[in-house]
Amino acid sequence: MTYFSALNKYKNNDYIKYMEEYASNHKVPILKEEGLDLLVSIIKMNNVKNILEIGTAIGYSSSVFALINKDIRIDTIERDELMYQEALKNINALGLESQINIIFEDALNVDLSTLKLDQYDLIFIDAAKSQYTNFFTKFEVKLRKGGIIFSDNLLFHGLVENASGKESRNLNQMLRKIRAYNEWLSNNEAYDTTFLRIGDGIAISIKK
Ligand code: SAH
Ligand code: MG
Repeated sequence: MTYFSALNKYKNNDYIKYMEEYASNHKVPILKEEGLDLLVSIIKMNNVKNILEIGTAIGYSSSVFALINKDIRIDTIERDELMYQEALKNINALGLESQINIIFEDALNVDLSTLKLDQYDLIFIDAAKSQYTNFFTKFEVKLRKGGIIFSDNLLFHGLVENASGKESRNLNQMLRKIRAYNEWLSNNEAYDTTFLRIGDGIAISIKK
């Protein structure tokens, strides 16, 4: 751990460290340090209490958010059974079951009325990159006015900006979808969006 990140106390939690190692060993794409630190700051600055996360993976980001404050409640959606089981295990190990509700389903199939919370202060979109516009339009009705949508991986390892030309057809298709989402978001008049060259590329959209 670097000098500076050691100063952030939440990273000194042994179980959080274990999750980081697990993610690294199993190639689980958890939120990168800069993005996580930014999101943690946003949650604190805006007194965010209700969070919806699309893409739980092993429950790393949701655990970090829940540990900020006991009043924070999170609904998080995961479609992969292995990830779901791993997240359940981790959240129980941390004793965060009362704060984090994991929904095992494809986010695009989730019935909005089954979500535990009826309004969110923040929605964190971190699942299949080709579906971002669909996730956004589906869940934005649950975001309060002034609420934030945080989208991760919008530069996709820099390839969204600078593709080498040697990408596979599938990868190119995904890069096109991310670019389309970025354009759409930039032109979406219902939100005020800032794109940040942080981590793997982040957008912060505030609902007007
Ligand atoms: N937010 C996590 C990382 C999520 S990785 C963290 O930072 O710790 C992305 C996850 O989204 C993967 O586990 C993947 O299985 C899940 N996912 C992808 N598409 C999905 C969908 N349509 N519905 C639900 N989960 C999805
Ligand atoms: Mg991500």
